[in-house]
This record gives sequence, C-alpha cells and structure tokens, in this order.
Amino acid sequence: MVVEKINSIRQTLPKGVQLVAVSKYHPAIMIQEAYDNGQRIFGESHVQELVQKYEALPKDIEWHFIGHLQTNKVKYIAPFISLIHAVDSEHLLKEIDKQAKKNGRVIPVLMQVHIAKEETKFGFLPEELLAFIASGTWQLYENVSIEGLMCMATNTDDEAQIASEFEQARLLFETISSQYSVFKGKRSICSWGMSHDYSIAVRHGSNMVRIGSLIFGERVYQ
Ligand SMILES: *Cc1c(COP(=O)(O)O)cnc(C)c1O
Repeated sequence: MVVEKINSIRQTLPKGVQLVAVSKYHPAIMIQEAYDNGQRIFGESHVQELVQKYEALPKDIEWHFIGHLQTNKVKYIAPFISLIHAVDSEHLLKEIDKQAKKNGRVIPVLMQVHIAKEETKFGFLPEELLAFIASGTWQLYENVSIEGLMCMATNTDDEAQIASEFEQARLLFETISSQYSVFKGKRSICSWGMSHDYSIAVRHGSNMVRIGSLIFGERVYQ
C-alpha cells in the first residue's frame, strides 16, 4: 500500500522536487515499509514521537522536524535532526544554534513564512523576515545553516487562493536570494505543498513537498 502510494506520487513530481514522507502518528512498521522501498526522508512534528522512532529505525534515515518546535525541546533532537523546517522566531533560531554547538554540528533549517490567511499558522510575516535577513543578525548563529523557506497555504478548496499564496512565498524567496547572501552556496530549499495542495505548490516554486495522509492514510489522533 504505502509503497504503491509513494511510487505514484513520485511519478507526479518533477525532477528536483524532494519528497518528505510525513509519518507523524503512523507506526514505525509503516516507515520501515517505505524505507525498504528506498524512501529516506521522513517528517515528524512531535519531539517525543520522533525520538522514539529515531531510536527504533535505521540510522541512515534523514529525519525532518516539520511542525512548531518549542525551544525547550530542541535539545532532544539536536544530536540527529537533518532539517528543521519551521523556524518561526529568532529565539528558536538562537536555541537551535546553541544546541547544535553543544553537539558539534551545524543544523540546517528553513525559515517559516506566514502567508496563509489564517490566524493559527506560525511564522514570520514576509516583511518581518525581510527585516530580519536585512539586519544580518542571522550571521551570529554559526551553528545553523539557513537553507531556504517553508510555508503552509490556507486550508481551503480555493485553488486560486492557494496558488497565489505559494506564489507569494516563491517571490519572497527570489527577493531574498537576489538581495542577500543568506542562501548563497546552500541548497535553496522551498518547502511547500502537502497532500491536498502539492501539485499547486510544485507549479509555484516548491522543491520539497511534505506529504502524509496521501501516503500513509488518515492519521488516528489519540
Ligand atoms: C502534518 C503535516 C504535513 C502533512 O500533511 P498531509 O495533509 O497529511 O499531507 C505537512 N506539513 C506539516 C507542517 C504538517 O504538520
């Protein structure tokens, strides 16, 4: 099941778009099934669940933290996390830097932009992010590598609205890339698109999609 789903999603992704299999709330056995089929990047959004899965599963999995990360929990994932998608404050960036230093690592991160017309989504407003990048203070954090942007579109059926939000994120990424050095020599990751909107996302600049329910089925929340 999982394998067929991943294979058919892969066929729809243009070359150069990476697939993060979002495995939150799904058991390790399903992750192992996807792993055995060659999938290596998995996304989780709860620290405790991620740590348990990290310990139980093969060590060459690239674990991505995709949800809202509390500063007091960074220390638990700092030894092994491959990419933190949703840095939504300088405070969090500073803590990731501190914990990365303790572990003798540089941790790759993405800055989360708040584009959606919803109050509940986290992230920097585009003008806040531009001001932060322009200030240059990100250069103080030598143990984090800011590799790109992450965003979530409004949860709506209005495809034109979703497209316009992703387009705003794409333009913001281009503005930052052309005016500042923050992404220079980095992977330039644009992480947007989930199960219901990833095909719109890849038409509007995404090169990393985060897909959960389309691969693993509906999540059962306890
Ligand atoms: C859960 C989650 C996803 C995956 O959502 P699906 O709709 O199941 O594909 C993607 N991104 C983030 C930040 C999430 O929390």
